[in-house]
Amino acid sequence: MRVVYSPSHLLHDPVFEVSGGRRIPAYEVTGRGESIRRALEADGGFAFVDPTGHGEDPITAVHDPGLLRYLAGAWSEWRQRGTGAEVIMPDTVLHPALREGMGPAPEPGSPCGRIGYWCYDTATPIVPGTYRAARDAVDVALTTAELVLGGETAAYGLCRPPGHHAARAMFGGYCYFNNAAIAAEWLVRRTGQRVGILDVDYHHGNGSQQIFWKRQDVPYASIHADPNRTYPYYAGHADEAGAGAGAGATFNQPLAAGTTDEDYLAAVDRAIDWLAARSDDLLVVSLGIDTYGQDPIGDFALTTPVYHEVGRRVAASGRRLVILQEGGYFVPALGENVRQWLRGIEGRPLDLGPRSWDGPTGG
Ligand SMILES: [Zn+2]
Repeated sequence: MRVVYSPSHLLHDPVFEVSGGRRIPAYEVTGRGESIRRALEADGGFAFVDPTGHGEDPITAVHDPGLLRYLAGAWSEWRQRGTGAEVIMPDTVLHPALREGMGPAPEPGSPCGRIGYWCYDTATPIVPGTYRAARDAVDVALTTAELVLGGETAAYGLCRPPGHHAARAMFGGYCYFNNAAIAAEWLVRRTGQRVGILDVDYHHGNGSQQIFWKRQDVPYASIHADPNRTYPYYAGHADEAGAGAGAGATFNQPLAAGTTDEDYLAAVDRAIDWLAARSDDLLVVSLGIDTYGQDPIGDFALTTPVYHEVGRRVAASGRRLVILQEGGYFVPALGENVRQWLRGIEGRPLDLGPRSWDGPTGG
């Protein structure tokens, strides 16, 4: 299988985030991308490909041009304030109730106002290399899509930063541009097909859902932790099914804490069946591995072998697959779990190494 990878993800290297009122080490770190790269290189069965530039048009086909403009200039604008702050992070966020009944707010001129206008959390810091890395992650996704249109049955894009929390006019959740949504939209425009998105990240992909909420041609199926207890809290409930022309084209399966391999596979089967009835032969997969039992953010109980089986079942759907990396924060096993997933896609056997991270103590 071809793997699209760019070392420029290393430019996005935030050291902290703010979670639950505490400054904590960032979870979305460069080591994630390198864990995956190393595991796939060591496997020997994957061929690495550089991304090619696709410009801004595929991004603004999905995102507000103002969001692209903001992210492109955010760091230099922030540096000019001269405060010495090491990251850009909001302390004020545009809550919808602030202007309830009053129409939309204009974009503020001040850097502190602007970050809260475009960003919704304190988990998604901007550092000097963020924009370059985020732009290249989009090109990784589009190059992966291009490989599949060019005849590959499946290709994998090692996108970092991830994307599925970024909405049309908002970023957050470690995500700046929605790589999967941009790839899906690009494929729709290229082929005229209905392109499904299968989102198996531990978190609901609120951004992908929002972008295609009123669309029938990009059906969105997500399997995730119940937002009643977990980020992103405000989207991903079972009764959210799309609206207008997109009524019925969103399928959410919120799952309980402690979800097992068996429960998870049943949800995967339901999602595959649902997508089979609503999409043509292309599928974008938002591949998150924060469903893993050892993940520091998640609370599912999945083990390494299940990733191989999920891959096998997704491949058995018969779709051509654009597989894009989203989350996954237990870095020691991240690459290995992605490797098993992709081996499952290819019909290669499960290949558990000498060291398994599964079990109550992990590694
Ligand atoms: Zn996630």
